[in-house]
Amino acid sequence: AVGKNIHTYHNGAWHKGDLPIMNAADHGSWLGTTVFDGARFWKGMAPDLDLHCQRVNASAEALMITPTVSAEEMEELIWDGLATYDDEAAVYIRPMYWAINGDQSAIVPTSDSTGFAICLEEIPMAPDNAVTTLTTTRFRRPVLDSSVVNAKAGCLYPNNARMLAEARAKGFGNALVCDALGNVAETASANVFMVKDGVLKTPIANGTFLSGITRARHIKNAQADGIEVQETVLQLDDFHEADEVFLTGNMNKITPVSAFDDTQYQTGPITKRLKQLYWDWARSLPKRG
Ligand code: PMP
Repeated sequence: AVGKNIHTYHNGAWHKGDLPIMNAADHGSWLGTTVFDGARFWKGMAPDLDLHCQRVNASAEALMITPTVSAEEMEELIWDGLATYDDEAAVYIRPMYWAINGDQSAIVPTSDSTGFAICLEEIPMAPDNAVTTLTTTRFRRPVLDSSVVNAKAGCLYPNNARMLAEARAKGFGNALVCDALGNVAETASANVFMVKDGVLKTPIANGTFLSGITRARHIKNAQADGIEVQETVLQLDDFHEADEVFLTGNMNKITPVSAFDDTQYQTGPITKRLKQLYWDWARSLPKRG
């Protein structure tokens, strides 16, 4: 566990602390059939929680794990679990499924054996002035017909881990990751945007990377604010020519990038505007009662 003040939902009840929920013989333990989603609670807000609950069910189906909790039910369970946290606490919300049994081949999960848990843990939001840096990586995103890239699956993350470890060993905060064709896809833990001449650009969702919920929210906010948005093919070189670069993801919503290898950026007006728009939108949502 990385956070503190953990609560775990399993088998119909919330428990204080981290629980041993998976058995050694579970399909997920040895064959990697695990999916999860990540959402955030902060200051009474849990932006796009409904979409994160829907996505974990879709991720399960992509791995042939049968989802057992509807998105609506899951949202309610999460709000119940969050009742033990102060409004000021920043909580990482992680619903997850895994397969318990396989069929006679052992490889294919059976539809009657799904594990489900929700983990809540306090992980602070990054400071308001946090920035990160990017470098290239020799590792790439897998393609659709060789991995379950359309799911938020645990088994995809060891590839992201080696990208991130490689970037950190070079002294950078994250890796700008390409797809199999050599086009920029995302980073090891978030989606990426750049601004050039007032136009907001982000790699087009081509199925090889996680087209994030936060990415979609920022695109909506930008368009509603009259900012031109292009989902397009971007190369590493385009990022060297960019005026602004930032990352998006549920964990910290928007993180300015201050450098890509030798290229430096300032936190620009569109990055600042989108941060403002995100929190204005989040604060306008109904808060917990
Ligand atoms: N890409 C990867 C690899 C991620 O792990 C995340 C975080 N879930 C994202 C992108 C951002 O997705 P979201 O905005 O849905 O959190």
